[in-house]
Amino acid sequence: MVLTMGSAPMADAAVGVDIGGTNIRAALISAKGEILAKLSERTPTDPLLVLERVIALARELDAPEVLGIGVGIPGRVDVASREILSGGIINLAGLDFVKRLESALGKPVVIENDCSMALIAEMKTGGAKGYRNVAMLTIGTGIGGAVAHAGRIYHGHRTAGQLGHICVSSDGPPCPCGRRGCVETFSSGTALRRHIAEAGLPATTIRDVLDMAAEGNEAAVCVLRQWAMPLRIALDNIAATMDPEIILLGGGLGCDAARALADLPAAAPWFCPPILPAKLADDAGVIGAGLSIFDAHVSSQGKRVVLVNGVPASGKSRLAKALSQRAGWPILSLDGIKNPFLQHIGPVDRDFNRTLGKASYQAIWSFIAEAPAGSTFIIDAWFGFQPKAQLEAYIDAAKIEHVAELWCKVPGSVAGERYASRLEDRLPGHPGAEYVPELIALADRAEPMGCGAVMTVDQTQEPDIEAVLSWLSHVFDGE
Ligand SMILES: [Zn+2]
Repeated sequence: MVLTMGSAPMADAAVGVDIGGTNIRAALISAKGEILAKLSERTPTDPLLVLERVIALARELDAPEVLGIGVGIPGRVDVASREILSGGIINLAGLDFVKRLESALGKPVVIENDCSMALIAEMKTGGAKGYRNVAMLTIGTGIGGAVAHAGRIYHGHRTAGQLGHICVSSDGPPCPCGRRGCVETFSSGTALRRHIAEAGLPATTIRDVLDMAAEGNEAAVCVLRQWAMPLRIALDNIAATMDPEIILLGGGLGCDAARALADLPAAAPWFCPPILPAKLADDAGVIGAGLSIFDAHVSSQGKRVVLVNGVPASGKSRLAKALSQRAGWPILSLDGIKNPFLQHIGPVDRDFNRTLGKASYQAIWSFIAEAPAGSTFIIDAWFGFQPKAQLEAYIDAAKIEHVAELWCKVPGSVAGERYASRLEDRLPGHPGAEYVPELIALADRAEPMGCGAVMTVDQTQEPDIEAVLSWLSHVFDGE
């Protein structure tokens, strides 16, 4: 993020607020997700008083370098309209929360469901760092849920990720959502207390129950099973629905739930993502809330492009596709635009082929120039066919904030061999066998464009997409 922050990149900060059932926490957060200052107080029961306390805490932490205030909301949030739709222990719906906060503080406000905020933090600096497809449950008084797809919170139509309301038994206890048998009614902290009471166990905490079960107490083993088995069913359903790389368990009971689940193997052997405890504990909510401001700030700013560059037959398309699949960014490919013209026009000479190439190149940059701020595109092209000054002019005109170049490196002999082997599939208009010696010489002397950060990718081997992604997040987000 450092690169997008204008004249004083190191000083920028955000205020993150997490409204919990017991405490409202607030913190000053750096772009890297560090806590610079922290405040906390008991949560009032009246929603209006909650709003007042949030304003007071944010004011106390506010400073000229604060870009905005992110708030994690207990309840369902429509992120696009910044509306709170419902709440649990505290219901902030119908308060005009965001507008009142913004006018009181005079800075932009971003709201998200509290578990989504926690997941943003865990993905940046915690237990889900390095993962891009993650489901998270926060197990506390209730069970919160959040989903990340391709590195970003997935909202679906409006409020995707309400994982606490996955139904595990149609005749189970009633749930605040209006149905019966949601996993929250069996596997939350509240439900655990009920299981303990019903079993007549002298235990007061989950640790006591875990210890008693470890010593062979049958009633304790039974309580653990009543608590964790429905959670296991919900996790299997999550795995079957979205196949995340990992499922993270956070909230006050996340670690204990992960421990209790260790004795209950997955019921569906097809879907077994690792179940991991979250790492940031109570701080996840405020860190994520602060980070959401930096994300919003970047999206409101410039666009980003990944130039997948290399000579013909250097494996660009394969790399671009693999990257697009992992990151979710669209590809604009020079051949993708040019080839339909060649198909319709029929055989053309090399000069005309080049003209079509130039027009396709221009079309790519026109699309990007029209795209909204915050977009990221992958461009698959042999950029060296046009001068660097032309590329710089396009980058400028399209208002690109970050340029990253993946330089597809292959020895001339490999490019020549690959090109020759694909001659039969080439459309008329592409140069034929006579081009091979020229391509070999070109590949041996070709250089990247160097209009931004460059990563050289050895295209004689299977590309390491994870390494590419982590390099890109370093270039784009300063991580
Ligand atoms: Zn429910």
